Amino acid sequence: MNIHEYQAKAVLRDFGVPLLRGQPATSVDEAVSAARELPGSKWVVKAQIHAGGRGKGGGVKLANSLDEVKREADRMLGMTLVTPQTGPHGRVVRRLYIEEACDIAQEFYLSALVDRETASVSFIASRAGGMDIEEVAKKSPEAIKTFRIDPAPGFTAHTARGIAIALEVKGDAANRVSQAVEALYSAFIARDMSLLEVNPFVLTRDGRLICLDAKVVFDDNALFRHADMQALRDPDEEDPSEREAATYDLSFIKLDGSIGCMVNGAGLAMATMDIIKLYGGLPANFLDVGGGASKEKVTAALKIILSDAAVKGILVNIFGGIMRCDIIANGIVAAAKEVSLSVPLVVRLEGTNVEMGRAILAGSGLPIISASDLADAAAKIVAQVKDR
Ligand code: ADP
Ligand code: MG
Repeated sequence: MNIHEYQAKAVLRDFGVPLLRGQPATSVDEAVSAARELPGSKWVVKAQIHAGGRGKGGGVKLANSLDEVKREADRMLGMTLVTPQTGPHGRVVRRLYIEEACDIAQEFYLSALVDRETASVSFIASRAGGMDIEEVAKKSPEAIKTFRIDPAPGFTAHTARGIAIALEVKGDAANRVSQAVEALYSAFIARDMSLLEVNPFVLTRDGRLICLDAKVVFDDNALFRHADMQALRDPDEEDPSEREAATYDLSFIKLDGSIGCMVNGAGLAMATMDIIKLYGGLPANFLDVGGGASKEKVTAALKIILSDAAVKGILVNIFGGIMRCDIIANGIVAAAKEVSLSVPLVVRLEGTNVEMGRAILAGSGLPIISASDLADAAAKIVAQVKDR
């Protein structure tokens, strides 16, 4: 689960991570009064969306007066912000973060993530932080250093020192880098994060070390034990069909193609998407109805798939293992009647009671196209959507 920068900073503040003061705002008036309450006479107005690269898209602006805060807040609120990470459609800005400004001497990159390869948390640090870290990663990967945290001793002074050395920060500042990194690590572990990215981590002209940006992703599998974090969810930032799918416990990811897929099991879903591509089509989504594909789930899944105007045909590919094919067939028929199907539907069933299942589909009076195997199903659905 993703959260906004202002929320991430509130979480990190509890762990003593060095941050500037700031306040969220949802209106121009709130933005101006937030700036008035913050110390100093320079502020940064920051658009809050679940995507980075905001600076490049005009979503992070320095304001040298309250008037400029007002102007930038007015410009940003309600705008569709397009950044290198939002895709061409961008994201609507509904909230701002007004933060005191600092004079930056140097921008570093710092992040912690769960590294699947080493099965441990790793820190990544680079002296070349800031808005072009992606370029650095591509062109000079040696400028990016990785520090694996051994889970037995956990975070040690040794790792902290290593990071300070990688950032080439010396003396007292090196100690403060260590303290900051240790605080970040504590937050990462205590809040079950899967990603904590601070870009930039800055050294200011007056010698302070500060986390200027913060991107936090919580591990969904651990959310059940953090009710306070679940409350940070922002439904406006989620795809509506993915949100609807989550309420039915369906794994759904929207894709760009024209063939809607309903499958049980993630592996079968992958294979289905692959074979659609092999036969010259493109999947419109990944949808795994899971093991217990009840009529309610199948109906919800069909509705979600059909709500996508790009869907020109649907392929249902279900293996009846524990769940029998006749039950699934009844579910599909009932669901297809309920949603009044407007696009061709190809169904491939396999497994327990498959003959009964096929007979139910054939006798339903619905224009369901039955397929004998995966290849046959892919060929049939691709042919169906071709000229639609
Ligand atoms: P994004 O990564 O989405 O572009 P950041 O929060 O990293 O957004 O901001 C972009 C840039 O704006 C930073 O690299 C930094 O140079 C500058 N910046 C951000 N916040 C402040 C601040 N409070 N004071 C001064 N400069 C800032
Ligand atoms: Mg950033």
